[in-house]
Amino acid sequence: MRSVLISGASVAGPALAYWLGRHGFAVTVVERAEGPRRGGQAIDVRGAALSVVEWMGVRDAVAARSTDMRGMSFVDSEGTELHRSTEETLTGGRIDSPDIEILRDDLAEILLGIAPAEYVYGDTITAIEDRGDDVLVTFENAEPRGFDLVVGADGLHSRVRALAFGDEGDYIHHLGVYLAVFTMDNILGLDHWQTYYRTETVMAGIYSARANTEARGLLGFEGTDLGIDHRDLRAQRDELTKRFDGAGWKVQEMLDAMLVAPDFYFDSMAQIKMDRWSSGRVALVGDAGYCGSPMSGQGTSMALVGAYVLAGELSRTDDHAAAFAAYEAKMRPFVELNQTLVERMSEQEPNHEALQEAANGISLERYPTTR
Ligand SMILES: Cc1cc2nc3c(=O)[nH]c(=O)nc-3n(C[C@H](O)[C@H](O)[C@H](O)COP(=O)(O)OP(=O)(O)OC[C@H]3O[C@@H](n4cnc5c(N)ncnc54)[C@H](O)[C@@H]3O)c2cc1C
Repeated sequence: MRSVLISGASVAGPALAYWLGRHGFAVTVVERAEGPRRGGQAIDVRGAALSVVEWMGVRDAVAARSTDMRGMSFVDSEGTELHRSTEETLTGGRIDSPDIEILRDDLAEILLGIAPAEYVYGDTITAIEDRGDDVLVTFENAEPRGFDLVVGADGLHSRVRALAFGDEGDYIHHLGVYLAVFTMDNILGLDHWQTYYRTETVMAGIYSARANTEARGLLGFEGTDLGIDHRDLRAQRDELTKRFDGAGWKVQEMLDAMLVAPDFYFDSMAQIKMDRWSSGRVALVGDAGYCGSPMSGQGTSMALVGAYVLAGELSRTDDHAAAFAAYEAKMRPFVELNQTLVERMSEQEPNHEALQEAANGISLERYPTTR
């Protein structure tokens, strides 16, 4: 039985583990966090990715935990409504579309629940040695082990990418916006509703989550190359406090919540662009190889589709190089279409037609499974 080590247990990792399991591979997943990570905003499953969750047998489970947003408002510093829409939201696009919007951690929980594998939490890969016949992997905590293949599903700041392909700086394209997301109380008593507030320099938003029992706060601002380490939460919180100080509306309550939120998440909106997604016995899937950024609205769907295609192509042949080449040939036009959405969205915002066209921009075949 061929063995595969996957780094990262968010969306791409468990989705790949699920499909590799069904194709008869022995799968190990290593995740740096101590357990399944909480947090993240509402993300979208749309287009071809809807077929993937359907074939995984979880489309109904995903739909059952949909955010079911009804619309959004923009308010002024006093909270007075300036504009409202019941046709679209900033996070999910058009309300009446077949897309499913779900919190990232709810989707990850569903995927982890159906993807049996050996999960190793609280550890990370420190070295990868492609020995030709297998890959010797060294970990921070666990003993070194050999695997037939290694796949990086470890996101925008992928460790596997750094080890097998080189510096992040060669591949990352910052889009000039930073975004923080965190859980907070539903202080506005929102009912499946999003509320946004903008000044010339910052944007803040609150939307209700999990049947209005809680909310997610969003704080965004323009900037590039802040030089803050993506794991330095204190520096990130300090930067937000400085930038949002005295901004008005509910921002002070949001900053207070941000400081104590257990799932605080902050990152640059950025894309990963690479000429190839494999090197020897190592490959990348999801944000690690082709992050679209929250601005594309397609990062999660690309991760689900990429995991499906990569596992399917590996199931077809023992020649991993041929499988990686086929995965790349099928995925690259889809990825490029989705990554360019960011430009097309800003040209004519919001461009729902372009979004649906990109989301459906790959025709998926059914790969026969053994289990
Ligand atoms: C906590 C969190 C919050 C997010 N919030 C948003 C959001 O608000 N909006 C948005 O559009 N996207 C967000 N994302 C990204 C979004 O999940 C992805 O764009 C998309 O779903 C594709 O997922 P992925 O599995 O490829 O990457 P990710 O979801 O980024 O998952 C990468 C996984 O790899 C793990 N990891 C990282 N480094 C290592 C390492 N060295 N060793 C082992 N494991 C490692 C991470 O902990 C994470 O679980 C968030 C991701 C995370 C992890």
